[in-house]
Amino acid sequence: MKIARFNGGRIGVVVDGTIRDVTAVAGVDAAEWPPVGPLRLIADFPTLRDKLEQAAKVAAPIPLDQVTLETPVPWPNKLIAYPVNYRDHATEMTSVGFANVQGFFLKANSSLSGPSEAIELPNIAGREIHHECEIALIIGKQGRQIPPERAFDYVFGYACLLDITIRGKEERVMRKSFDTFTPVGPYITTADEVPNPADINMRLWVNDELRQQANTRDLLVDIPHMISIASSAATLYPGDLIATGTPAGVGPIKAGDTVTIEVDHIGRMSVPVVAGRYGENIVFAKPYEFKRGAA
Ligand code: MN
Repeated sequence: MKIARFNGGRIGVVVDGTIRDVTAVAGVDAAEWPPVGPLRLIADFPTLRDKLEQAAKVAAPIPLDQVTLETPVPWPNKLIAYPVNYRDHATEMTSVGFANVQGFFLKANSSLSGPSEAIELPNIAGREIHHECEIALIIGKQGRQIPPERAFDYVFGYACLLDITIRGKEERVMRKSFDTFTPVGPYITTADEVPNPADINMRLWVNDELRQQANTRDLLVDIPHMISIASSAATLYPGDLIATGTPAGVGPIKAGDTVTIEVDHIGRMSVPVVAGRYGENIVFAKPYEFKRGAA
């Protein structure tokens, strides 16, 4: 099932390029603040699934391009991300901090944005702001110290994720936590629709230029171990997001660009890049020159 959030917090099931409004059956109040309805929907999904499917069958189909798609889980308990998780990206970053020895970091939940929203570049001179092409794992149930061999029991679904990053040596959390720096979408594809999570191709374009492509078979820390490692430290809750880390090919984006991400079986979305009004601060006052390592 493909579960979208749209038009101000409504819940839809995506069928053949149309969206079916199932907000009432999903038990989600679109106007609720904080917007935690999607967390309950994910937690209760085993009992809701049949009702959602029935509701989707009778709901009026709305063409996808006529709705505003929003980030599917806007208020998770946490947004976990793995650093350097492909060897080729480690090379280009001249990094030795692989995910298997570094562990995860966190991004601000408020950096989440949706497929219909622009990436707003902060007003910072002398810095490159890069795209990172990643997959979002959406956790389906609570767990701690999850063994790798049981990790897929905890995966609710998948989505495309862009980990937008200011290059520099300051705290990674701040460099990656600006508003709109984590577009997720276009919807959640539930785990049953992904035949083999260890063999997923993904691609990223800036305008028409293919910048990144990779397959999950090349991950340094694979999906089961990402879940196992994260849950050794922190209890995972329904709706938690895990960003899987980027392959090689990261590069700068600028106002006017369009970033397109496509993940097989999971979805595709195109996000515009605009110049934002905010973001100036003393921390990033010094320019930083990003030097790419030998690929
Ligand atoms: Mn990343």
